[in-house]
Amino acid sequence: MIETQLHQLAQWLHTPSKMVIIPHKNPDGDAMGSTLAWQNVMQQLGHTATVLAPNPYPTFLHWMPGHSDVVIYESEEEKGNKLVAEADFIFTLDFNTLKRIDDLGIRVAESKAKKIMIDHHQEPEGYADLMFSEPHIGSTCELVYQLLERLDIRKHINKEVATCIYTGILTDTGSFRFPSVTANTHKAVAHLIECGANHSHIHEQIKDTARPDRLKLLGIALQNMVFLDDINTVYITLSQDELDACHFQKGDAEGFVNYGLSVEGIKVAVLMIEYRHEGLVKFSFRSKGDVAVNTFAKTYFDGGGHLNAAGGISKRSLAQTKPFLVESLRAYFG
Ligand code: 5GP
Ligand code: MN
Repeated sequence: MIETQLHQLAQWLHTPSKMVIIPHKNPDGDAMGSTLAWQNVMQQLGHTATVLAPNPYPTFLHWMPGHSDVVIYESEEEKGNKLVAEADFIFTLDFNTLKRIDDLGIRVAESKAKKIMIDHHQEPEGYADLMFSEPHIGSTCELVYQLLERLDIRKHINKEVATCIYTGILTDTGSFRFPSVTANTHKAVAHLIECGANHSHIHEQIKDTARPDRLKLLGIALQNMVFLDDINTVYITLSQDELDACHFQKGDAEGFVNYGLSVEGIKVAVLMIEYRHEGLVKFSFRSKGDVAVNTFAKTYFDGGGHLNAAGGISKRSLAQTKPFLVESLRAYFG
């Protein structure tokens, strides 16, 4: 972290102000955990702070402290526009390009508010006045923890804040197993538990609250696995019809892609989900070791992310996307 930027942020935090805190579209545990934790601390410091999410997030996160006050831009556009227009500060967390928040990005770009990026993805865009961009850190939540430490406001980590930060670290590290986890991650987590985070309860809320339909969908996904043995890759498809048959809800397919990686020898796993009404196929890519799926996603599927976890989209039909995916995989990883 750059000392001058930390100093500037500390200065700004001295005067009570209006803040909007924005996670990326389709927010995950890290995006919601980091924004809700930041909001809670900012409120404790006397600021008026609102979390404004571009669109809804999965129900397995709806228990999070602060959830009931989140404004969803997709359904409350006018309110969101007003918040952004009147803000003194806009914090953008867990993303680094305004493309990741769709139309809300236009409003943010227009706003006169000071913009502060807090993120852990590679190749940040230059829209922010202050940038806390740390791609080597495994989650934005861990970065938020470090930021609170460096700003000397760690005492504001109450039970709620600790719960939010723990959740993001948990979900963005595959339950503490990805290479991005360090001794510092575990030290932070130990402190979060001391501050009141109930790790066992959090794991249960996230992992053990599925509807039976979600498991039915997992069964279909596993049936649909295709192995490309020549490039140590597996891909899974889910069509709109299959989603409909299982009354698909946002977040139902979370984690499915990892089953591909659990197969011995597999280095790359792909999950592709057809959203027929939106006219697109959404990709999740996962990999092991130094196999870079973020650059692959960027090259072929208008996406990005991290070395071992990335996403992207295709605007072709699922039937057309499949052969294009296989061709691209062989060209890039073959
Ligand atoms: P997931 O597969 O869980 O949706 O996403 C994995 C990672 O890729 C996340 O870190 C997320 O930020 C990133 N990601 C997912 N979808 C996209 C996308 O469409 N564009 C970009 N640039 N990154 C994405
Ligand atoms: Mn993240």
